Amino acid sequence: MNVYDGQRIAAMLEKHGLVQTDNVEDADIIILNTCAVRAKATDKVYSALGRIRRAKKDGALLGIVGCVARESGADAFKRIPELNFVLGPQSYHKLPEILKNPDTKLLNIDMSGLEKFDELPQMTKSPLVAYIPIQEGCNHCCTYCIVPYTRGRELSRPFKDVINDTINAAKTGAIEICFLGQNVNGYKYTDEKGKLYKLSDLIRETAKLPEIHRIRFTSSYPTEMSDDLIEIFGQEPKLLPFLNMPIQSGSPRILKKMNRPDDIDAYKAIVKKLKSVRPNIQISSDFIVGFPDENDEDFEQTLQIAREIKYINSYSFKYSPRPHTAAALMGNQISEQIKSVRLQRLDLQLNENQREFNTSCIEQEMVCLFEGNDKTGKHLVFRTPYMQQCIVDKPDYEITPLQKIKITDANKSCLRGEIIK
Ligand code: SAH
Repeated sequence: MNVYDGQRIAAMLEKHGLVQTDNVEDADIIILNTCAVRAKATDKVYSALGRIRRAKKDGALLGIVGCVARESGADAFKRIPELNFVLGPQSYHKLPEILKNPDTKLLNIDMSGLEKFDELPQMTKSPLVAYIPIQEGCNHCCTYCIVPYTRGRELSRPFKDVINDTINAAKTGAIEICFLGQNVNGYKYTDEKGKLYKLSDLIRETAKLPEIHRIRFTSSYPTEMSDDLIEIFGQEPKLLPFLNMPIQSGSPRILKKMNRPDDIDAYKAIVKKLKSVRPNIQISSDFIVGFPDENDEDFEQTLQIAREIKYINSYSFKYSPRPHTAAALMGNQISEQIKSVRLQRLDLQLNENQREFNTSCIEQEMVCLFEGNDKTGKHLVFRTPYMQQCIVDKPDYEITPLQKIKITDANKSCLRGEIIK
């Protein structure tokens, strides 16, 4: 979501004649696009601001946008007096106002819902992977999560608007579409005639575009995985055989405290249905260890589910207490030391899953999407249909963005391959 917001901000400023620079010292305007989901992310913003305010040239505008802006509000100006603007995730389209009035302090953390989508100029050039947000906010209220506070209540964008964005992305260079939402598979939009549109409708419509070869979506909430959506994995070959469906914990007791779906058997049944319609599908998850009151037995259940589902490409985090969340006020907060040990043990398991899956890919041929050059300039980096990184020697001929690649080697973090001409 933040990558998308960053792309829109860049495109908006380019319309105003600005160009991007990697050098803080050269910049006329410096924008930190921020995440507040864990304390560490927020802390990083303020330490970066401390560095930047000294490094920036005189008169350069400095500001923060996104969830830390929303969370800090006017307080941010007190902490960093050099700040010129503080704009929340639903109001960054107001950014040009600071260009017009650089001597003011611009604060806007309004929850204006979908307004920004109408205000932002359409992209004129799309990256190969186009992120298309289909909703804002989230209504689930997991007790650890700050997102419902920073990004507001859940709103699905009109079906027609999303499809317009998708068509525009396809016409301007996209090959892959990634639909985005905090609760993406809960997308529901009813038009003026009363017709209901779901994520499966967006996928079906997008798959008709000849320019688009790959479709995926993130992040899914387990109980929103409706049958129509499961079935489309069996019907639509452009939909990648890979799904991020966070479980967070393997313990029903902890899941209840997280205000998450706590029926592990129901979760496994969804995975089973997905595998029955798409036998080669792989699942990834997000995990939180050290949630308040999590004991050894709860944690063992998390390891158990990680082993059983054989998750690939997963994310794991130590629980971080956040303002405006219920879990931050719960008793039995877990020590940093225990959180660290549990995270290490979980990561060992996740790495083992990953290595096992990566190794099983050797000798397979996969159509992969070009991502960029590696640091040495001697290799090209591709993404497999499972979003693994695959590195190939740079050929001496021009390549197209989609290439058939034979996987020749693997370790836990990436694959090696050869382009098949
Ligand atoms: N709805 C989005 C939420 C983004 S946060 C999604 O499902 O991806 C991404 C991940 O961060 C969550 O899935 C969760 O595993 C983790 N997370 C959220 N709040 C957290 C917290 N307070 N401490 C640690 N990890 C957290």
